[in-house]
Amino acid sequence: MTLAQGRTFLSIPGPSVVPDRVLQAMHRPSMNIYEGELVDMSFAMLDDLRRVARTEANVAIYIANGHGAWEAAIANTLAPGDHALVLATGRFGKGWSEMAMACGVEAEVMDFGTKTPVDAAALQARLEADTEHQIKAVLVCHTDTSTSIRSDIPTVRAAMDAARHPALLQVDCIASLGCEPFEMDAWGVDVMVTGCQKGLMTPPGMSFVYFNDKARAVRDAMPRVSSYWDWNPRANPELFYQLFCGTAPTHHLYGLREALTMLLEEEGLEAAWARHEKLASAIWAAGEAWGSTGDIHLNVADPAHRSTAVTTFRTAGEDAARLREWSARETGVTLGIGLGIDAALSPHGKNIFRIGHMGHVNPPMIMGALAAADAGLKALGIAHGAGALDAANAALLAR
Ligand SMILES: *Cc1c(COP(=O)(O)O)cnc(C)c1O
Repeated sequence: MTLAQGRTFLSIPGPSVVPDRVLQAMHRPSMNIYEGELVDMSFAMLDDLRRVARTEANVAIYIANGHGAWEAAIANTLAPGDHALVLATGRFGKGWSEMAMACGVEAEVMDFGTKTPVDAAALQARLEADTEHQIKAVLVCHTDTSTSIRSDIPTVRAAMDAARHPALLQVDCIASLGCEPFEMDAWGVDVMVTGCQKGLMTPPGMSFVYFNDKARAVRDAMPRVSSYWDWNPRANPELFYQLFCGTAPTHHLYGLREALTMLLEEEGLEAAWARHEKLASAIWAAGEAWGSTGDIHLNVADPAHRSTAVTTFRTAGEDAARLREWSARETGVTLGIGLGIDAALSPHGKNIFRIGHMGHVNPPMIMGALAAADAGLKALGIAHGAGALDAANAALLAR
């Protein structure tokens, strides 16, 4: 017998829970791609995509996951042999650097470890040493989903400005957009990449590259850009098919339209940010209670540097993998895997699990995930401090 009947719950950091309304909006016969509702809706949606990122910048849509947006950002701004500086706070920063290297870019990684955010003073010193301005771009994750570290992008910008360095600031907001405060224009971000399957609550399959006019000028000076990744026709299409360099992702567009309506028109972006912060505070309260005496700990000690969209937990040995397996089998709650952020301790990340709290989530979902984990700790005899669920509830109720 298992209790894991009823609706299963994927409590992982992407794909996130897709609202029924988004699924229903996608459930329709194939529609006209030459004229009419889909065409008008798609052009109009570019403005809503700008609103989510607080920007007037250009937006290019790709029928791709986040890795596609990563490659698009590289393809438009960095030629083989160009230098880029990647600020890594976990697996995703490193992944972006590996992709840049595969494209022939000389990517230098500044590794800030797996527990603390980007150190802006170290960045400033590195850029000041680059007196010939070899570095063409600084690449950084707003939230690195493997470690759940959130870096402070305005201080990254300030360090670049203090060093008077002209490199493009390129930010990965795949985990954070729609969940955590992000202001592309006010923060001086030149290029931003994101995807539809996390805070934007749509099944995986679309990603977005935002770029300002400074970045566009860099693109226009490139020796060549592959026609599929080229952001220019996508961001300034004369004809509908240019928006996607081919057939539109018809059903995904209807899903995204519904999700943007929920986020921007109904809940409001700032209310969504505040909801994520409140729900995250419950996860952290539980994590602090578990960690007070036990073998399970929040990965990021300082709340100011924690993401409010995803939380990474560390356990002893392979306890995290055992807990994940127990939770899925016995309760139907799937917790996120570890991504091997400390290969020395556990090459396959079996000492790490993550809870995604991004997008379409509410208190019973958060409490359900925490309760499943709490029950698993008890069932498996993993040492943990008491009172996690009470602490989480108290955090939700706190004004
Ligand atoms: C999810 C994620 C990615 C990768 O996105 P895919 O859609 O899996 O390619 C990259 N960066 C961050 C920060 C992410 O959270």
